Amino acid sequence: MERGLALPTSMPASLDTIAALAKQRGFVFQSSEIYGGIRSAYDYGPLGVLLLRNVKDEWWRAMVQERDDIVGLDSAILQARKVWQASGHESVFTDPLVECRNCNQRFRLDKLDDPSVCPNCGARDNFTEARAFNLMFRTHTGPVEDESNLIYLRPETAQGIFINFDNVRRSNRLKLPFGVAQIGKSFRNEITPGQFVFRTREFEQMEMEYFCRPEDAPAQFDYWVDSRHRWYLDLGMTPENLRIRPHEADELSHYSAATVDVEYNFPWGWDELEGIANRTDFDLRQHTEHSGIDLRYFDEDSKDRFFPYVIEPAAGATRATFAFLIDAYHEDKVKGEARTVVRLHPRLAPYKLAILPLSKKAELIEPAQKLATELRRHFMLEVDLTQSIGKRYRRQDEIGTPFCVTVDFETLEDQAVTIRHRDSTEQDRVAMTRVLDFLSGALL
Ligand code: ATP
Repeated sequence: MERGLALPTSMPASLDTIAALAKQRGFVFQSSEIYGGIRSAYDYGPLGVLLLRNVKDEWWRAMVQERDDIVGLDSAILQARKVWQASGHESVFTDPLVECRNCNQRFRLDKLDDPSVCPNCGARDNFTEARAFNLMFRTHTGPVEDESNLIYLRPETAQGIFINFDNVRRSNRLKLPFGVAQIGKSFRNEITPGQFVFRTREFEQMEMEYFCRPEDAPAQFDYWVDSRHRWYLDLGMTPENLRIRPHEADELSHYSAATVDVEYNFPWGWDELEGIANRTDFDLRQHTEHSGIDLRYFDEDSKDRFFPYVIEPAAGATRATFAFLIDAYHEDKVKGEARTVVRLHPRLAPYKLAILPLSKKAELIEPAQKLATELRRHFMLEVDLTQSIGKRYRRQDEIGTPFCVTVDFETLEDQAVTIRHRDSTEQDRVAMTRVLDFLSGALL
């Protein structure tokens, strides 16, 4: 077994390194890979599905479980077309699309480093006029594919919350201020998906709409910017890799009075992780106008009726998962030997522990399996019997497992196991009956 403190290094991981690790260790696979793959969608493998789920669970815990003023919702992906007419998505949810006349590649004009040069073939001043390209995926309900049956896959989860404002408020007797949180898939026909899972056409969002009195909106906005920034830090993200960037006036969405982005320093530079917007009363007003249903709020105390303002922290679940993985990736040395270690926060780590019997003899496998059966009721874990102990540690380091529990011949005598800490590689001897407490403490 190894001893000695591992030295952290600050080697930033390249996109290729993360993509290779993701594939090799079963975090993320290219969608439809055996048919050549499609660039705009990815499949989450056995490790990735756990990491993604943990990110979503942590968001839900912070936004719903630990609050007495926020409730959850899971609205449908398919919604009436009128929802998207009222919200403005049908007319203005567009990106400026240009095509290079030389190589016929298409680009999003606002994302080009130099709007006069084609990043594919280098042609200069040879783009077509920009045209507004609507990002919503269109399909049809029922067997007839005509305009009257046109329906969209939702491009955001937020509208499902606005159209249920009264259902949620009434059924749960909610009083302002209150929030409604939702996690779910969204779809955007992005012109240029890319940078691995950063921008895909199918992705998951975590959005919360916090309804408040209009005069309270500025203070709530500041509160949520701070709170969302802290969420990433509390889950171990490197502070220097996170920043808050207020939107310029000409960048604001049609519904927003103020927006800031929480940005992460990705391998290609600063880019958006989450947007926090003051959406004013835009959405509730629009849905009232288009549906004819009055979505104003009646205040029992002051007896006034008004449209609440809403503060929206809108994060990407798949994008945050990607950022957590990048941030956790490190290469360091243990006793002079290079290793890759993914220092995920224990609450995000796919497996909380690995149980590693030192030998394949039945007398060690039996207590190891017994311990695993007990702990599986509480945590995701892996029992690994293959290869040398050193190789098994390396694998667990690479998939971010915070603790390795070795069952050795001494265990048979003292009913204790050795717990190895992923980051420091230090080891503690712990009674088998104390392992559950130890892990529960580490995951708080
Ligand atoms: P961008 O300017 O990058 O296209 P946006 O500002 O339109 O993004 P929002 O509408 O604010 O994004 O969506 C909220 C969050 O949803 C984003 O911060 C991001 O984390 C996530 N998200 C948006 N589009 C995608 C996508 N195509 N793939 C993955 N995540 C996405």
